Amino acid sequence: MDNRYAAGDNEYSNIKTAIVSINTQRLVVLGAAESGVGAALLGKQQGWDVFVSDGGVIKEQFKKVLVQEGIAFEEGTHTSDKIMSAVCLVKSPGISDKTAIMKQVRGAGIEVCSEIEFGYRYKGESRIIAITGSNGKSTTTKLTYTVLKDAGYDVAMVGNIGYSFARQIAERPCEWYVMEISSFQLDDIHQFRPDLAVLLNITPDHLDRYEYKFENYVASKFRITMNQGKNDYFVVNKDDPAIKEYLATHSTHATTIYFTMDENNIDKEGGYISNDRLHIDLDGDYLDMSIHDLSIKGKHNQYNSMAAGISARIAGVRKASLRETFGGFEGLEHRLEYVATVRGVEFINDSKATNVNSVWYALESMKKPVVLILGGQDKGNDYNEIMDLVKEKVKAIVCMGVDNTPIHAAFDSVVASIADTNNADMAVHTAYKLAEYGDVVLLAPACASFDLFKNYEDRGAQFKAAVKDL
Ligand code: ADP
Repeated sequence: MDNRYAAGDNEYSNIKTAIVSINTQRLVVLGAAESGVGAALLGKQQGWDVFVSDGGVIKEQFKKVLVQEGIAFEEGTHTSDKIMSAVCLVKSPGISDKTAIMKQVRGAGIEVCSEIEFGYRYKGESRIIAITGSNGKSTTTKLTYTVLKDAGYDVAMVGNIGYSFARQIAERPCEWYVMEISSFQLDDIHQFRPDLAVLLNITPDHLDRYEYKFENYVASKFRITMNQGKNDYFVVNKDDPAIKEYLATHSTHATTIYFTMDENNIDKEGGYISNDRLHIDLDGDYLDMSIHDLSIKGKHNQYNSMAAGISARIAGVRKASLRETFGGFEGLEHRLEYVATVRGVEFINDSKATNVNSVWYALESMKKPVVLILGGQDKGNDYNEIMDLVKEKVKAIVCMGVDNTPIHAAFDSVVASIADTNNADMAVHTAYKLAEYGDVVLLAPACASFDLFKNYEDRGAQFKAAVKDL
């Protein structure tokens, strides 16, 4: 196939020439973490009069950057006068429109944009592969980035993983950006137009930010393609019911490339699995490889690999190079991560499985009887989705949370043995006692971690430490 966007192409040879405009208008950044500080740095570089406001305590690492760069900021409060003089306001994805300050900002009609929108204005001729979905964003972003990097591209991985887009542009602009994007980042885009947009799946998550309406969350995810034209690509999961339903009544201007488990679902171009082989057919050109040669396992990773593979091939990566990276790619920490085998019992850390759908895929990929560690801060989970797999594969459940009642309500009549614990050490010991030689203990909580842990990384780290202490 054509090398549609060959790296180093003449057309893009002056990509790295920063376009610095003179602009003394006020840019206010709300929230001083990775994306906010990134926007502030880029704003300052582009001549904006930047003011950063954070209602909480700014982490030391970010404060240091603001001080070093001489960027004005406040913390613990939002001073209305300083904020309302903004011409443009970059809002951290964590700040909801329901906060008092955002109500005031919206009421005054100040332009609000997300950090990726702000970064987009200064990206020059560089190319963007933007990846969203309810699950698999980080894995697919890292995989796509690694494929491009291994193939010799000048590429950065940005967004929720790594540096923010704006910071990367300010500090080291690249020809390619592979970007992990959440729905919150998409909510305040206006012109952001990725050359390649990937939509992995849509299942209920974060509904508290969308008035508990799934359709609002779905619409937010589809914003990734809203500014795309026919020369752009929209790489999308054809098996996902929510995506199918939305596409039945909405269209995109982009060239759409599907991926699916079912080869009959693909017309001429796309990705599919057939006879245990992953296929990517594009522009009359064919690639296939055994799914057993993919280093990351499970059906969900076949979806992620198809999405990454299609993107990389459209970007011009050679087949041999793609195959090699797919064969050697190390998955991310806390995603179905093998920890250890202790006297015949295998331990797997999937602490990042913070919703029911990701637990479905974790269970789907298990080949041995499972002792499942479940629980944490429930987001209104519907456990019916995993009921069949639990019946088939789970011999015992260890609850690990402050309030385990939703888990008991769902599984008491289904699983013979359910234990209650409230820390990682106790959960690991209890699971180990319930497991027999040849079983697997799977931490896949389906819940947020904040009731007992700092975050999912902390939960996964404590789990691993407890396993190593057995
Ligand atoms: P995200 O960045 O969207 O949260 P991650 O790659 O961090 O996604 O994975 C989050 C969780 O979802 C992990 O438990 C992982 O095993 C699971 N997962 C990864 N890819 C998929 C997918 N395509 N569909 C469903 N679950 C997935």
